[in-house]
Amino acid sequence: MTTATTAFYEAIEKAAAGERLSYEEGLALLEGDDLVALGAAADDVRARLHPEGYATYCVDRNINYTNVCDVYCTFCAFYRPPGDHPEAYIRTRDEIRQKLDELYAVGGKQILLQGGHHPDLRIEWYEELFSWMKGEFPDLHLHALSPPEIHHIARLEDMPYEVVLTRLHAAGLDSVPGGGGEILVDRVREKISRLKVDAEGWLEVMRVAHNLGIRSSATMMFGHVETDAERIEHLHRLRALQDETGGFTAYICWTFQNDGAAPLKAQTVGSAEYLRMLAISRLYLDNIVNFQSSWVTQGMKVGEISLHYGCNDMGSTMLEENVVSAAGTTYALNEDDLHRMARNAGFTPRRRNFFYELI
Ligand code: SF4
Repeated sequence: MTTATTAFYEAIEKAAAGERLSYEEGLALLEGDDLVALGAAADDVRARLHPEGYATYCVDRNINYTNVCDVYCTFCAFYRPPGDHPEAYIRTRDEIRQKLDELYAVGGKQILLQGGHHPDLRIEWYEELFSWMKGEFPDLHLHALSPPEIHHIARLEDMPYEVVLTRLHAAGLDSVPGGGGEILVDRVREKISRLKVDAEGWLEVMRVAHNLGIRSSATMMFGHVETDAERIEHLHRLRALQDETGGFTAYICWTFQNDGAAPLKAQTVGSAEYLRMLAISRLYLDNIVNFQSSWVTQGMKVGEISLHYGCNDMGSTMLEENVVSAAGTTYALNEDDLHRMARNAGFTPRRRNFFYELI
């Protein structure tokens, strides 16, 4: 038995028909618990945007260049504080080369490079690293430094975002990951990531990047201290920026993972809630074409189901994932697993690059 209002079903029908939802209609979607109706409508939207029947993916890997961070997000079990912590690291060139060799050995040419806010790494360090990587691996796609990291460098150097991004782009940065978005509402950020860039700052980094021709992804981490209205506000802000710049290539959402290692004591919400919010996002974000599944946090079975709850893409093979795995549940799949996931869900798996061009 479901509880849902007329406004819930009206909003579903409107979105499935391709009409834009208002903020109030977004809230109405969160009032009902008819998961099947939400999924069916999100699948209609996915099928309209991606009628070819493919489930795409890319082969890439994560590299976390440092785990040193002085931001202390309460949901994070990955970082180590600045100082002489025995587990603190900055990846050496040899370590990075080895990771890139492993990636190239399986045919991958893209990395997701992210790290903590290290107080001693200056902009030249990033420039030299990027130039070196591009010198050694000229066809590498460098998906690097989420908005909080860009903000951190800008603050450290007392430079505008535009200067930081222009310099990093010239050194080899190709696109910006959407990490650190969590929920783009400052009340929430005060509670879970008080020292991180605020909501407007995150959006401004993305705005500047997009205006410089640097594309990015958009994210949402939910299921912690946010309210329903704040989830919709988050989506609303992403949609507004996408209207303005068109720079987001894809959206990915996942649930807060808690195995007790991070200070934040919120309960991990289940897969049904993941699928519900994924479908609502698909209905609300009418201007972001690609939706990635978060099988890394949800597992392969839910990954399959997510392809019928709005996702057209399975993300990447993720040879390495430290930030999510440090906080709890994580899954690892190889290319064959992704093919199986796609086929089990009734799609043809197709490999793609960052720009969603089939390869
Ligand atoms: S989530 Fe990122 S910014 Fe926050 S503490 Fe962890 S490494 Fe630092």
